[in-house]
Amino acid sequence: MPKELRWGLVGASDIAATRVLPAIRRAGGIVQIVQSGSKDHGRGYAAGNEIPTATTELSEALAADIDAVYISSRNDQHAAQALAAAAAGKHILLEKPLAIDYAEAQSVVAACERAGVVLAINHHLPGAGTHARIRELVRGGAIGRVLSASIRHAVMLSERLRGWRLFGTPGGGVILDITVHDASVLNPLIGHPAQTVTALATSQGRWPATAEDAAMVAITYGADILAQTHDAFTSAFTETRLEVHGEEGSIVGRGVMTQDPVGQVFLTDRSGEREIPVDDRRDLYDIAIGAFAGAVAGEGSPAASGADGLAALAVAQAALTSSLTGRAVPISDITK
Ligand code: NDP
Repeated sequence: MPKELRWGLVGASDIAATRVLPAIRRAGGIVQIVQSGSKDHGRGYAAGNEIPTATTELSEALAADIDAVYISSRNDQHAAQALAAAAAGKHILLEKPLAIDYAEAQSVVAACERAGVVLAINHHLPGAGTHARIRELVRGGAIGRVLSASIRHAVMLSERLRGWRLFGTPGGGVILDITVHDASVLNPLIGHPAQTVTALATSQGRWPATAEDAAMVAITYGADILAQTHDAFTSAFTETRLEVHGEEGSIVGRGVMTQDPVGQVFLTDRSGEREIPVDDRRDLYDIAIGAFAGAVAGEGSPAASGADGLAALAVAQAALTSSLTGRAVPISDITK
């Protein structure tokens, strides 16, 4: 049984307050300190979330009596903060994307290995009961040889999140926000390395965005498998969906690209279509925190490891490069 962890929060963020802090506490974890770049925001956040101490100094947070940090700052801050946490010997649950640049992300993974600390990336989807069930079906041969996969992950960005994601900040945009999550699902599902990525991106929202808010991405995997994603901040009524098609059948996950433990899984093969029961309906963030605590205790691995985060980032960075250059981008151009 993993011990109760003492945590520091790096970044006084929405996702920490709404999803991860409650999950840490449900697992018996204790949050000792929050670090925010803004004194006022940090103090208000600590008071509002019953965290005893707020600081503007990362070094003070890392010197606190904590086992682990949860880093959920803006994307462009992830790498430097994770490197500092590794140097301080703290285990790290790091928000996605691992970094906004692949080489920087590699340096984080290497630093955590050298420091002997656990690094988990908070890709919440691959751990979900629905996704685990779909992977089980594929690996068990339910659809035979995999030919293609498709994800629709087009949502309406909540009003409260229409800040750095849309305007100016490096690391904003839908590709580093949502496509990177799709890649965290497709990579282990398809089980072959991503090869080449082509993407189109645009700004279609009723806001003066300076970053892309909608993207369609095509990816080749292994020798001959095709995948595609549609990601957007602009679609209020679109059902999310994960499909995987094989020689012997097709699987459709309806409403499964979400933060909640919902959605249905259907299998169609020669016997027709049927719903596949999904027994694991645990909160997705409970799954991530449970696996992280287990890994810290030497029992099992994180739901998404540093290597998983790197593989997801490689696809997203290739998509971003493709959308800006108009050319197909080999993954090897990103990972070289
Ligand atoms: P927020 O915009 O809520 O927070 C990001 C940073 O913005 C905070 O760390 C904080 O900076 C600053 N900030 C926020 N509100 C204020 C304020 N009122 N005044 C001053 N500064 C403020 O981001 P999100 O929670 O949406 O995202 C944070 C990270 O989590 C991102 O990396 C994102 O990709 C990831 N994420 C992951 C999800 C998942 O399901 N895995 C879902 C949503 C986001 P400071 O660091 O200085 O405190």
